[in-house]
Amino acid sequence: MGAELASTAAAASAWGGYANGQIPLSELTQVGGYYFRNDAAQAMVALRMAYSSALGRALIINDGYRDLAGQQQAWNDYQQGGNLAAPPGTSNHGWALAVDFGGEVYGSSTSAGHQWLQANSAAYGWWWAGRYFSQVESWHWEYTGSDTQQHAEENATLYRRNNNGMSSLFHIQNTDGTHTWALAGDGVGAAAWLQITDVNVANGLALQHGNAVNVDWGTWQAWKAAYTSKQPIQA
Ligand SMILES: [Zn+2]
Repeated sequence: MGAELASTAAAASAWGGYANGQIPLSELTQVGGYYFRNDAAQAMVALRMAYSSALGRALIINDGYRDLAGQQQAWNDYQQGGNLAAPPGTSNHGWALAVDFGGEVYGSSTSAGHQWLQANSAAYGWWWAGRYFSQVESWHWEYTGSDTQQHAEENATLYRRNNNGMSSLFHIQNTDGTHTWALAGDGVGAAAWLQITDVNVANGLALQHGNAVNVDWGTWQAWKAAYTSKQPIQA
């Protein structure tokens, strides 16, 4: 599916030929008691050092890589009223590319530590993905490395609309100069991807759903696949 879905689609985060939640620990690096992909771990070490020197206290980690059993436990907890969790096999925790911070970062997005992370973590390739969850999680951050935070956030914002059962309107100009729009959403029992070629219909939809997002062909294809397969994006 390529980089267009960045951290938001599980399939786009696959690496090393492993399956989600089935990565050997020998392939990962431990930081603060939890495991991450090696590059994400190196970046986490640097991030924690900078955090400590800026704030004079440690950046606490509550969770990192989750194997399938661990994600099953998180999923079970969520089903029983606990924190949001993705179905086993779909979480970025299963790719060793997500972290749950503890302490003040867990406690509040207005804490000094959280504010510092918001301002500085992108330089280390980590960003606050949990702000776009249907239940906002102050503690959940993801590693996107060289991908830009803005790029990841744009995708996450669009995907969050899907996740919340809201609809997004996409637009593409075809190579023959014609235009196509698509109304994408995941309403109960509803079609997830409705293509429209009539500009008047599209304008009517824009009044209800907001202006269409202009995308290129690759992005169009990626979103179409994501919406029609209804891949989850969650913690
Ligand atoms: Zn998390």
